[in-house]
This record gives sequence, C-alpha cells and structure tokens, in this order.
Amino acid sequence: MNNFVYRNPTELIFGRGQLAVLEEKAKQLGPTVLLVYGGGSIKRSGLYDKVISLLLSAGCRVLELPGVEPNPRLSTVKKGIELCRQEGVNWILAVGGGSVIDASKAIAVGVPYDGDVWDFYTQKATAQDALPLGTVLTLAATGSEMNRGSVITNWETQEKFGGSTTFPTFSILDPEHTFSVPRDQTIYGICDIMSHVFEQYFSHTTEIPLQSRFAESILKTVIENAERVLANPEDYDARANILYCGTMALNGTLPVGVETDWATHSIEHAVSAVYDIPHGGGLAIIFPKWMRYVYRENVQRFKRYATEVWGIDPAGKSDDEIALAGIEATEAFFARIGAPTRLADYQIGDEKLQVMAEKATPYGAIGRFKKLASTDVAEILRMCL
Ligand code: NAP
Ligand code: FE
Repeated sequence: MNNFVYRNPTELIFGRGQLAVLEEKAKQLGPTVLLVYGGGSIKRSGLYDKVISLLLSAGCRVLELPGVEPNPRLSTVKKGIELCRQEGVNWILAVGGGSVIDASKAIAVGVPYDGDVWDFYTQKATAQDALPLGTVLTLAATGSEMNRGSVITNWETQEKFGGSTTFPTFSILDPEHTFSVPRDQTIYGICDIMSHVFEQYFSHTTEIPLQSRFAESILKTVIENAERVLANPEDYDARANILYCGTMALNGTLPVGVETDWATHSIEHAVSAVYDIPHGGGLAIIFPKWMRYVYRENVQRFKRYATEVWGIDPAGKSDDEIALAGIEATEAFFARIGAPTRLADYQIGDEKLQVMAEKATPYGAIGRFKKLASTDVAEILRMCL
C-alpha cells in the first residue's frame, strides 16, 4: 500500500425529506445565493418550487443561472462568474446532476480568481479559494457531490478537461429526487459509477485488500440494484443504494494508497469533446475495450475481478480465460441493461479517431495500469467502432 492523506470535508445529508435542512444551511451561508440548474428537469419535478420556497424562508435573495448543459460549457461558467461578481453573491446552490454541480464548482473557484477560470482545467493554476457551494443532487452518477473534481467543456477549442476545484460544503441526497431520472440517464449513471470504480480498482498496487473489497462491494451493489431500478424507477431502496454507491465510488475512499488509472475517462472526455455524447454512454463503450487491451499487464487483478465481482468459476480455466470471462460478463451486463456498446450507436465512425486520440493525450501518455500513447488510444477507439 502507498502512503496517503485522506480528507473529505463535505457534509453528506442523505435520505427522504432531507431537503428541509436547506433553510438552516441557507441562513448560515449568507443573504445572496446563486441558484444554478440545468435544462428544466427540476421545474418539471417540482423540486425548483420547493428549493425557492426554502431559500426565501431563510431570507435569501435568489439569483438564477438556468440552462447548464449536460457536458457543461465554459461559456456558461463565465456567465455565472460575471453574475456573482456583479451581484455580490455569497454562496452557490447547485440543484441537478453532475453537470450542474461541476459548472457550479467552476463558478465557485472562478469568482475569486484574477485569471481565466480555464487555467484550472489546463493545469496552469491550482484553485486556492472558492465561494461556498451547496448541492441538491438529482442524478446518481458522478460523485461530484462529494469530491473536488469538475469537468468542463471548452466548446471553442473542442476540449473537455477535468480540474481539481472545490468540495461542496454540503450535499443533500434524497433518493426520491432521482425517481424522475429517465431510463437512459439512469443507465448512463450506472455505467459512470462502475467506471469510476474500475479506474481505481485496476491497479498494480499490492496488499490493498480493504480498498479492493470496498470497490468490489460497490460494483456488486450497483449490479444487484441496476435491473431493479430499471424495472421500477420509483423503487426507493434501489435508488438509494445506487445513489450512495455513486457517492462512495468517487469521494476519495477507493484511491487511498492505490495507484489509480483514469485513462478511460480521458479517452471518453475526448470523444465527448468532439461529439458531445453522454459521458456514461461513452464509458460503457470504451471500458470493456480498454479492459481487453490492457488485461495482460496484470492478469491476476483481472482474475480477481472475474471471480469476486462476477462469480466466475475458475475451475478448469486458464488465467487468461478467467480474466476474459470477467470482461465478457461486463460487456454482457452493459448490453443487458441497454447501454450503448459501440461508437456506431452514436453514429461515430473512424473519421476523427486520430483527432480524439490526440485530444485524450494532450500532455503525453495517459493511464498507469498500462501507459497509453496516442497510438494506443487510437487502437482502443478503433476497437470501439
Ligand atoms: P448531467 O449531465 O448532469 O444530466 C444529464 C441529464 O439528466 C440532463 O439532461 C438533466 O436534465 C437530466 N436530469 C438530471 N436529474 C434529473 C432528474 N431527477 N429527473 C429528470 N432528468 C434529470 O448528468 P451526470 O451524469 O450527472 O453528469 C455528467 C457530467 O459530469 C459530464 O460532463 C461528466 O464528464 C461529468 N463528470 C464529473 C465527475 C466529477 O467528479 N466531477 C465525474 C464523472 C463525470 P436537466 O438539465 O434538465 O436538469
Ligand atoms: Fe465519470
């Protein structure tokens, strides 16, 4: 196990009816709030009215930034920063999925920063200061509600990069807020959560039984609850379990002491930057192909994955066969829940494979399980066609 420092300051407020605490939180965080949300799902679900009413009861002046795009854009972030500066906003409340939260984080660190907020995404600057940020999560997927990551797309340069920004001060997670998530977004969320675990599980670090079992238990819990939630989108416990898995998959619990990978996310971001496809859909296509491309780097790790997560019976099989059976089980699961399996599902052909491979490797080779140069990335993308 490697050395580590583990700190997570976000207060997670989980469960039915927990939105009520927003009033008290709002009183503590200051009189002027910027409410950030997406394309209108919170208005259709009635959540918007509830949030506004609690903020007004707390005596807040509420400014709004609606219309945050899935794969949030730098131009929207800049609009939010301007608004905060003009109006002396004290804190930000993000109500929505990962895109809304990520855009809000960018605004939170952009307001006190003199330079261009894009600097935080191009490794030119490290965020030092931020406005306080609260979140009300409506979609189980990214873990953004309890980490400091934020992924923003610069549509002018067709670049999508993650940056280390700021932890939310608090996050309210009521599984009922996820009842209205459409089937496709539920599937993408499941794929994203599992992919986050994969990025931190496939590692060469040895003697990490606790981290390995944490990861396997998240994967098994997601797998157990996926078909349940798809059969009945209002199954509270299934939604709750997946929601908590989403948070635990990416709140800093899994990577402690572990050399993590993250190449597949970089590849997916490059695809999204060029074709604007849903993040979880892209991951469902790319991850199994990445697995096939790299598993020989550490067959034992893939063997463990196959037997512990998928219950593959090792009897009479070679190491390679066991590892491949685990990868096949992953592919079969993604297909069974209705996730996309090929880039062709998004009408993506081979025209821009090289462009995407370059965009995925702007600073050279990516990943640690196997270091991938742009030629490797192009090869993996070709396998995804
Ligand atoms: P999202 O982009 O936030 O939302 C996807 C869609 O779901 C939107 O159209 C949204 O509609 C809708 N939606 C959300 N909640 C809903 C609800 N309760 N009912 C009905 N519709 C709902 O999805 P996401 O997967 O959470 O976020 C994806 C983004 O996060 C990507 O940019 C990805 O790269 C990034 N990401 C970030 C991290 C991180 O750690 N920060 C990790 C992984 C991925 P409205 O817009 O109308 O609300
Ligand atoms: Fe992700």
